[in-house]
Amino acid sequence: MRFDCARNLLNSTAGSLFVVATPIGNLDDISTRALKVLREVKLIAAEDTRHSLRLMQHFGVSTPLASCHKHNERDASSRFIARLLTGDDIALIADAGTPLIADPGYHLVYQARAASINVVPIPGVCALIAALSAAGLSSDRFLFDGFLPAKTFARRARLRTLKEEPRTLIFYEAPHRILECLQDMELVFGGKRLALLARELTKTFETIKGLPLEELHAFVQDDTNQQRGECVVLVAGWTKLQNHNEVGSEAIRILDLLLKEMPLKCAVLLAAKITGLRRNALYQVALDKQQN
Ligand code: SAM
Repeated sequence: MRFDCARNLLNSTAGSLFVVATPIGNLDDISTRALKVLREVKLIAAEDTRHSLRLMQHFGVSTPLASCHKHNERDASSRFIARLLTGDDIALIADAGTPLIADPGYHLVYQARAASINVVPIPGVCALIAALSAAGLSSDRFLFDGFLPAKTFARRARLRTLKEEPRTLIFYEAPHRILECLQDMELVFGGKRLALLARELTKTFETIKGLPLEELHAFVQDDTNQQRGECVVLVAGWTKLQNHNEVGSEAIRILDLLLKEMPLKCAVLLAAKITGLRRNALYQVALDKQQN
């Protein structure tokens, strides 16, 4: 097989490792080049061979599949490297989208490069890039933070580290955690910060909804359909201006509860500890409430 890429300082007798993006829903999104490579390589390393077998059958690709998932990747990689060193070309695919992006493949690519094997990206769909391209949020600089921790405490702690990040933030999230995720984002970033939910991209029920966090949270809470399917969450980067409005409705709810139980000063202190928000901002809200 001939490929038009430079192979300077690479092992010239070894095969190439092709990192191939596949669709995230709409099968028409596969590229002509991806199909050509998948048909011509000797082996396809796939995250879930049963899932990929159906995809390959759909495209009439009969190349053998071998599993490369997060539990066997380190061991399997050594076998793939040995095969590449015999001169065979191998393609790496994930269940959907671009391998290595919140998906297995890092160890294989690392080992391949360490062994001077030619690694060739075959670019295509990636959910975070698809979402960003349609979000209308600043896209010159962005920060992809993968999946947030599943547990509330750790999730809030992670969000706090990103609170004053000026770049657009992008997260992957599981549907059963989307509500908690938006609630915590509202709590930490403030309800006025602009955010966007990109759901079921390229599929029948594709939804792209951009709203301030408190409204987006309410929108998802009120419509259980929004709590299904695959989703990407984007949050506008921090700006000085937004910081003035940082106390969102979730923080106010917590402050209200505390104000009913204890003196103002204690309630503000505790609310600041729970939410991670500035004491001054919470104090101002508490004072306004008292005066009203
Ligand atoms: N490698 C993939 C990529 O290139 O985007 C990501 C794989 S990661 C295991 C799966 C996550 O990607 C999902 O939980 C969701 O956050 C996001 N995702 C995948 N497909 C999506 C879609 N069609 N619409 C929205 N988000 C999607």
